[in-house]
Amino acid sequence: MTPSLTFLGAAGTVTGAKFLLDADGARVLMECGMFQGLRELRARNWAAPPIDPRRLSAVLLSHAHIDHSGYLPRLARDGFQGPIVCSPGTADLLRIMLPDAARLQEEEAEFRNRERATRHQPALPLFTEADAARALALVRPVAFERATTPAPGVTATFHPSGHILGASIVDVQTGGRRLVYSGDLGRYDVPVMRDPVRVDGADTLLVESTYGNRRHPSDDGTPVIEQAVQRAVTQRGVLLVPAFAIGRTQDLLYLLRELEGAGRIPDVPVYLDSPMGIEATAIYARHPEEHDDAARAVARAGGEPFVPRRFEVTRTRDDSKRLNGLDGPAIVIAGSGMATGGRILHHLRRRLPEPRTTVLFVGYQAAGTRGRMLREGAERVRIFGADIPVRATILATDALSAHADQAELLRWLAGFRRAPARTFCVHGEPDAAAALRDAIKGQLGWPCEVAADGATTAV
Ligand SMILES: [Zn+2]
Repeated sequence: MTPSLTFLGAAGTVTGAKFLLDADGARVLMECGMFQGLRELRARNWAAPPIDPRRLSAVLLSHAHIDHSGYLPRLARDGFQGPIVCSPGTADLLRIMLPDAARLQEEEAEFRNRERATRHQPALPLFTEADAARALALVRPVAFERATTPAPGVTATFHPSGHILGASIVDVQTGGRRLVYSGDLGRYDVPVMRDPVRVDGADTLLVESTYGNRRHPSDDGTPVIEQAVQRAVTQRGVLLVPAFAIGRTQDLLYLLRELEGAGRIPDVPVYLDSPMGIEATAIYARHPEEHDDAARAVARAGGEPFVPRRFEVTRTRDDSKRLNGLDGPAIVIAGSGMATGGRILHHLRRRLPEPRTTVLFVGYQAAGTRGRMLREGAERVRIFGADIPVRATILATDALSAHADQAELLRWLAGFRRAPARTFCVHGEPDAAAALRDAIKGQLGWPCEVAADGATTAV
């Protein structure tokens, strides 16, 4: 029987990645992501996927982001008992991310029940911390470049993709066919992470297309970071950086240390005010094998790549609140990255009304978020029910993206020695996926299509 692949998410959309591989009796789910964003998408998390979790042989997971991994606790709760195979870095990050996702689910259900803001009586979480623990017990880390057999007749190898710690390109062989999934592809020549590993061939290729229609800025982000820190120093104010706990926070700490070392910024106290960011930074530091040469050289010389000179972490809520009394110049890094929740909110409420405050956005700001409103110049924002005037200076850079842009995706694809028989663009909004498909057809001359939700293809 020819192996086949069915697209059950991240087809025509960015989230909810799930690709089902059927190979001679073995059923392997590649990715197990949660749908995020619009209400219609989130509703899909509640419609059982057309797979019986008890009959799945294994899950292969490219990386820990929730849009790739967040459905694992539900799968485990519904009877999945096979291995969840991923890289060691991904396994470590899952241990902080899945319980955190479960807590958010439980808090939201509790909130809806309290406010009676639900059509369901009572509102239930999609999964609980106990379900997350059930999933974590199934995780089987396997080192990069080491072939493993997740199910009879299926061999898988993980190659570093450079996107976040542990992120992998998943390379599967079954029934004499080779199926390669790019996972989320990182970038070339960026701080901390290594370049995506070159892959030389595939029969069937799935390539992500998040930024399939975009070109990242050519600078490395340091000019804006330098400008923001200098402003905090001259104004004797606080620089607030809303940042994603995983990836962006470590990039930022690394760049601040580099800029200090190069004398481009003075030594300013840096507070990491994010419990998850603190844990993620410790995990990044424990995996030097995934760092690029420059970051490894820092460690070899006895330095700590993610520790600026005057660095403090604030773990407890009380420590975080004490930062309200902080006088500048100082830098506070806190989540969430789009200012939709988390500790950054109480810092913004406290400091947005002050002209000497600087806010620096270093990540994508989705439509409808406070981050997007601030970035677009809102004069007031609502935080905890209060109308907060914005007198702070708002800066932003897109240079710290963790996703390859169109040119970088094509650069990785150019490493293939011959065209795959089938290439599918996945994990992109319709415009982005179509733009990448057109570029692959036009510039590489490969047959290529955008993956259709629910469609099945031969591998
Ligand atoms: Zn990702």
